[in-house]
Amino acid sequence: MSLGAGGAGPVPDVPEEVRGPWDPRVRVFRAGAEVDAFCVVGDRAVAVVDTMSSPQLAEGMLAALGDDLTGRALVVVNTHQHHDHTWGNCAVPAPVIAHPAGPAIALGAAAARFLEERRAAEARFARVRIVPPTVTVPDGAEVHLGGLTLVLVHAPGHTPDHLAVWIPELRLLLPGDAAEHPFPYAEAPAGPADLAVTLRRLAALDPETVLPCHGGTHDPGLLARNLAYLDRVIATGGGPGAEAAFPSADALAMSGTDAGRVPAFYADFHRQNLLNAAIAPAPSGRSERPSAEVAVDPQAGDGL
Ligand SMILES: [Zn+2]
Repeated sequence: MSLGAGGAGPVPDVPEEVRGPWDPRVRVFRAGAEVDAFCVVGDRAVAVVDTMSSPQLAEGMLAALGDDLTGRALVVVNTHQHHDHTWGNCAVPAPVIAHPAGPAIALGAAAARFLEERRAAEARFARVRIVPPTVTVPDGAEVHLGGLTLVLVHAPGHTPDHLAVWIPELRLLLPGDAAEHPFPYAEAPAGPADLAVTLRRLAALDPETVLPCHGGTHDPGLLARNLAYLDRVIATGGGPGAEAAFPSADALAMSGTDAGRVPAFYADFHRQNLLNAAIAPAPSGRSERPSAEVAVDPQAGDGL
């Protein structure tokens, strides 16, 4: 999510655990309509994939993990540095893995200013302290949790620093905000063209389960629907007049929903996607470096 905070309705202080027909080692937590985050429980380590928007939400996830934390190392993966995915970092005593562009975004003036604004607006952000990523990894890095592997796939388009998480043993994809119901937001300067490339790459993994951070679905068909949406955004040529060719109501209809069933800010996302489609895609920012592996040692505590 992006374009500022809020608009998704009240957010609880304690996340709700959501269960479904996926492997129970992937535990799904929901903070109202704001965001979903994930805890992947391996034999030797637990990975918290995104920490939600506040320390109290992150603490709620850790409390719910209970015995799953006993005897296991803990590691955090940030899919990207938007506040609803990272402001709980300060409550999780673990190394934080992200894309190499992540730390500069987290420590930038814009992030500090945004936190100040949100703190002034909502008491639930009072305890937030920005904790930047401590471990950065190239495209294709693997985190071995014991029995389950996280393959961290550079997935630019929503943001330049975005990582998706592929768990090959389960054919399960955590796309972060690269895929979203009803449709994703392609932040400039990456834009819809880069996000379409990313979604094609993720779809080629042929996942059986896709759990995005927004939209509450586990349907792998989400990738194809998002791609069809982006292809249509791109086909308009973008710019201020593009909404006449592809109105928001059509965008929602092709995603299988309507304005009454999704937060109102999706109309803004759509408008901005159309504007961003007029921006020429940047030359590939993807890392061509070879894969790196990150071994998680249960004895290492938070020293990774
Ligand atoms: Zn986001």
